[in-house]
Amino acid sequence: MKISIIGSGYVGLVTGACFAELGNTVICADNDAKKITNLKKGISPIFEPGLDELITHNVKAKRLTFTSKIKDAVKNSEIIFIAVGTPSQETGEADLTGIENVARNIAINMPGYRLIVEKSTVPVETGEWVKHTISTYVRPKIKFDVASNPEFLREGSAISDFLRPDRIVIGVESKQARDLLVALYKPLNAPIVVTNIKSAELIKHASNAFLATKISFINAISQICDKVGADVMEVAQGMGLDKRVGRSFLDAGIGYGGSCFPKDLDAFIHISDKIGYDFCLLKEVRNINEGQKKFILKKIKEVLWIIKDKTIGVWGLSFKPNTDDIRNAPAIDLIKALQSEGAKIKVYDPQAMEKAKKVLSGVTFCKDPYEASKGSDCLLLVTEWDEFKEIDLLKVKKLLKRPLLIDGRNMYEPEKLEKAGFTYVGIGRK
Ligand code: NAD
Repeated sequence: MKISIIGSGYVGLVTGACFAELGNTVICADNDAKKITNLKKGISPIFEPGLDELITHNVKAKRLTFTSKIKDAVKNSEIIFIAVGTPSQETGEADLTGIENVARNIAINMPGYRLIVEKSTVPVETGEWVKHTISTYVRPKIKFDVASNPEFLREGSAISDFLRPDRIVIGVESKQARDLLVALYKPLNAPIVVTNIKSAELIKHASNAFLATKISFINAISQICDKVGADVMEVAQGMGLDKRVGRSFLDAGIGYGGSCFPKDLDAFIHISDKIGYDFCLLKEVRNINEGQKKFILKKIKEVLWIIKDKTIGVWGLSFKPNTDDIRNAPAIDLIKALQSEGAKIKVYDPQAMEKAKKVLSGVTFCKDPYEASKGSDCLLLVTEWDEFKEIDLLKVKKLLKRPLLIDGRNMYEPEKLEKAGFTYVGIGRK
């Protein structure tokens, strides 16, 4: 099939490269001309394991091309995916400027039937607005369909998530749209849930809100564990073996972050308010998440006492391992909060330092985790990269001013750390 993807970011590039890998002819478009120039030179704007190889392979096979001319993409494809960003506004409402802009651009340039698919995460009823926008600007007599096909990939494992999804959700209003999307996804052999557009839009918001709720739930439990001397890891294991509960997303830590959960929750709360439902459960999920960042700051103070002039070595910046994405990363908030109290920060992350340099100042960026440990009063683990799991703890201990490790992800075994001579502080651990 001939496909174009408008918006070549984390989702657009992975989607484009994977559809090309499945044998389709794909054009990835973006209005960021620099990004496109780099992609044409083989330089990817993001770090995602396996993506560079997939792009190179499909460019060579002439199945994948890049353009900054949306018009060319629209002319040369039958199915057009919109994968632009949908960031939060100050009010929490999703900023759909990019979606509207692209919908108009598609309408103006459509030479014939096109299926326009929302891939971006959007509030329910956005499909109505996309349809309305296209109807307003399209030339007379040209037919089109709009569909919703939310994306569930996770950064860090995006390619395997895309190629081996738990399910594919397709929200459609016509047989033609349904047949095209079902045929496109057929090679993946995954369950396909076909719904109307509004249900598909809601499935995405509801799924992310549910996962965020699980995280806030276990974080709340971690605070109780801390008070009574129980261990949240044991509680999570005991809860998670119940199939109705499940173990995933029951990892207590410093709160969720990233480019999706915080913004999608805000957008879901906002759209719910707008249509007359006060989603107070989700408001509390958000409060608990914010509270978790304060909880870890309190813990740091409990062990360090005075923060001013202390050097804190921070391991990890990205919001999760295996990505360079620092959008809404808890590490950034924590570092800024510690700096505001006078701490000196030495930081290391395997992939996210270039991006972090644009948003952090007065921080020492280190070449490896050992350099971040050297002369620090304590270590704060924020992102559970494998590199930190395999660290030489005795070497780290010698480099630190004081062997104090605050494990924001409960990545280490307390006994092991204590045996190695560290003072270990986890989240909700006995
Ligand atoms: P991103 O910021 O990495 O990429 C968006 C791209 O769209 C950018 O390259 C930007 O230049 C481009 N763009 C913006 N406006 C444009 C326009 N008018 N015309 C052409 N290009 C335009 O964002 P992302 O992380 O890929 O997310 C995209 C959407 O997918 C969001 O709605 C997000 O919520 C959703 N989503 C993201 C993930 C994820 O893990 N990142 C997972 C599932 C869904």
